[in-house]
Amino acid sequence: MSKLTLQDEALRRRTFAIIAHPDAGKTTLTEHILLAGGAIRAAGAVRARGENRRTRSDWMKIEKERGISVSASVMTFEHDGKMFNLLDTPGHEDFSEDTYRTLTAADCAIMVLDAAKGIEPQTLKLFEVCRLRDIPIITFINKLDREAQDPMALLDDIASRLQLDPAPIWWPAESGNRLRGMVELGTGTFQPYAKKIAGAAEDPGHPEALPLADAAEYFEEGEQQALTDALELVEGGYPAFDRQSFLEGHLTPVLWGSALRHFGIDELLKAIGEWAPAPKVMKAQKAAPPETRNAPAPVDTTVEPGSTEVTGFVFKVQANMDPNHRDRIAMFRMASGSFKRGMKLKVQNTGKSLSVNAPIMFFASDRELAEDAYAGDVIGIPNHGVLRVGDSLSESGMIRFAGLPNFAPEILQRVRVKDPLKAKHLKKALEGLAEEGVTQLFRPELGSDFIVGAVGQLQFEVMADRLGEEYGLEVIFEPSPYAEARWIGGAKADLEDFAGKYRGQMASDIDNDPVFLAKSSWETGYVGERFPKVAFTKTKERG
Ligand code: GDP
Repeated sequence: MSKLTLQDEALRRRTFAIIAHPDAGKTTLTEHILLAGGAIRAAGAVRARGENRRTRSDWMKIEKERGISVSASVMTFEHDGKMFNLLDTPGHEDFSEDTYRTLTAADCAIMVLDAAKGIEPQTLKLFEVCRLRDIPIITFINKLDREAQDPMALLDDIASRLQLDPAPIWWPAESGNRLRGMVELGTGTFQPYAKKIAGAAEDPGHPEALPLADAAEYFEEGEQQALTDALELVEGGYPAFDRQSFLEGHLTPVLWGSALRHFGIDELLKAIGEWAPAPKVMKAQKAAPPETRNAPAPVDTTVEPGSTEVTGFVFKVQANMDPNHRDRIAMFRMASGSFKRGMKLKVQNTGKSLSVNAPIMFFASDRELAEDAYAGDVIGIPNHGVLRVGDSLSESGMIRFAGLPNFAPEILQRVRVKDPLKAKHLKKALEGLAEEGVTQLFRPELGSDFIVGAVGQLQFEVMADRLGEEYGLEVIFEPSPYAEARWIGGAKADLEDFAGKYRGQMASDIDNDPVFLAKSSWETGYVGERFPKVAFTKTKERG
């Protein structure tokens, strides 16, 4: 049993995600953060773990073939008195929807930039989501062991394109073949970089840090002086780190390194431990379960991480890795309370109650039963489809968190099963996958077709694979007449008027919310103008 109070437990949690454009080094950095945190012993373990998973679940063949990671998960480790929960987000842009949802469960994000490339398109998109959700950002500029852009140009890019003040914490001494190390601003501590010696059996690691003035042996003629001169400019030219400004999203501390060469990683982990916020006070609503008679109107409330009631929300549902079981694991991010195994929790939106007897904590090397958990933690709750993305869970069943987005799909296809006798199974399977958030499902009001929507083509491939492997269904995707989907909202009379005129293009989503299926983006614009009282939205927040 821990002797820490509930508040202390919440305060020592750091729940964060890594955002990056594909190939910037997110996977490598994840691995090296786990290494620095003592969660794994040898590099290569993250991938090895992936391989294990794949042998157990065939649909992950896709991951292997494409060399991308499709499913988000979480990894927990304890280091230096803090509990770190690293949320792993898929990097491929087809899966950005999943990434967005995962970010709703993060209190901080590490933005990884490739030192040669700077800000890339996907970096920008993910950054926007963080900004929308007020998630503070620590920047890590990776791949210093390769030829990099001028460090000042990289920082200026952050300032101008993200409107974020960069506060360099360290400063690199060159890059690529000439990389000597990096200096800590303010203290002048120099961390030398040791090149990997080709063919050497053992990697000696990087030499001990020392004052820059004493580090002559690591430099060639004139370099040390040039660096000392540059530092003066840098210290005068950029803002100093200010934690408040960082927490408010105006400033980002910038660290540098090479994930592959385990350079700058300890410094990054230290920054996360010291600066990333503990779980925040969260906005919520206090609302009775749906079928309560004479229920009072919902009222706005806030949830303190250190308060006693267990509350939180499901941000992801993962299929059980074992295809013989239909179990799903709901990833539950706790917002408050002291969770104990066996506890009963209620789903606010359905009023259902469940005993959480086998909650899972995800450690890098292992999965373990979670005996207790606190605000900031993510536990996996196995269930048979009771829990869905966006569900709020609490002891009282009265706390509702909002804000899990669904994004309008960019590709809409009709799906049919090859064997017509299996049409019924198809419905169930599609609903299952939609509940997990793999693809979205729309049931047109007229006709018996199913329209599935995705943000990217790859989602259909995952879906087809899983329908085959897990449900024994061979399906065919056909083009649908629709190009876009929009959720509609407004006064009842206006909605009925609109739906009456466009009956043939109305559908309902997995929550039975009305959706308009437009044949072109031109049509979306047209109905928007013709029905100004109806709101056509590209995102829907569940919960
Ligand atoms: P992700 O797509 O963002 O997860 O990127 P990965 O971690 O898979 O890395 C993409 C490629 O960049 C791989 O070949 C890595 O070995 C390489 N890489 C990652 N970090 C570094 C680094 O610090 N230096 C160098 N030279 N290569 C790196």
